Amino acid sequence: MTHRLNVLVTGGAGYIGSHAVLALLEAGHHPVVIDNLVTGFRWAVAKDAVFYEGDISDTELIQRIIHEQGIDAIMHFAGSVVVPESVQDPLKYYNNNTVKSRSLIESAISHGVRHMIFSSTAATYGIPESSPVREDMPTIPINPYGTSKLMTEMMLRDVAAAHDFNFCALRYFNVAGADPLCRTGQSTVGATHLLKIAVEAALGKRASVSVFGTDYATADGTGVRDYIHVSDLASAHVIALEALVADPKTSHTLNCGYGHGYSVMQVLDAVDRVTNNKLERKMEGRRAGDPDALISDNKAIKATFGWEPKYDDLDQIVQHALAWERRLTDIQTA
Ligand code: UDP
Repeated sequence: MTHRLNVLVTGGAGYIGSHAVLALLEAGHHPVVIDNLVTGFRWAVAKDAVFYEGDISDTELIQRIIHEQGIDAIMHFAGSVVVPESVQDPLKYYNNNTVKSRSLIESAISHGVRHMIFSSTAATYGIPESSPVREDMPTIPINPYGTSKLMTEMMLRDVAAAHDFNFCALRYFNVAGADPLCRTGQSTVGATHLLKIAVEAALGKRASVSVFGTDYATADGTGVRDYIHVSDLASAHVIALEALVADPKTSHTLNCGYGHGYSVMQVLDAVDRVTNNKLERKMEGRRAGDPDALISDNKAIKATFGWEPKYDDLDQIVQHALAWERRLTDIQTA
């Protein structure tokens, strides 16, 4: 067991970051959150975590936190995540995801923080030549979001080669679900992700769900994705953290997914099963830039860290997402 680590969690008030904070607390570590609350929520941060409101580009604040809290490692979630927005406003993405990451990495290097876990994405692959996609396959992003994250991976690689510093970049596939104890979940206003939209529709917050494309080269013609429960993703971060500390010479770039996928129809069928109701589905054209299937090869993360998912069950993911969506309604109307 690794000793108690003081971990700076950037974006810890956001969807994945707030789950990582819970996982760190459960593993006996000490999370310290920095979040500018542009898309995150103060209430999403567990009470046992220290909270600083601010921006990761504020180098004086980061320096102060590192010293005040004796930070050992950084989990870096803060950034912008909406793919179509990245196409409309690429400079926002290169600033929030690349330039500000550079600033954070520099703060880490100059103030003695030697480990970083980085929130990367399957969008770094672009449209992969085949699925499941392995980490050594070509990374050719097709949007500024993917490029902005890949550029940060590259910086981390070069910095780790030059300094006493190691990192783990985790390339997330489709993150879904919510904390099984319903303490936090996907709370973004105007979210565009399939399961979030489907549970909103199931609770009557939307009239129907659009199915984007029915002529893909998949079994039922709709897009296939590898949906991973956010709590399994959070646990991968804690294992990665402990591995970076245990072996400070080694860095990693690893996929984070279940290694199998579900189509849009299968996801909507699961929501129907769980709610015992029928969502109205509107068949629409393809969304620009969507690949037929995007499935992780997760052999590397399993072999490297011994990571084993606990919630690899679509119906359970849907149940947790739905429970959280109900809870969110109460929070928003309170
Ligand atoms: N999708 C859909 N309707 C929606 C949102 C998404 O049919 O309202 C499809 C999308 O085309 C893709 C899959 O669901 O095949 C997952 O999309 P999402 O936006 O959740 O994640 P992405 O894979 O784009 O990161």
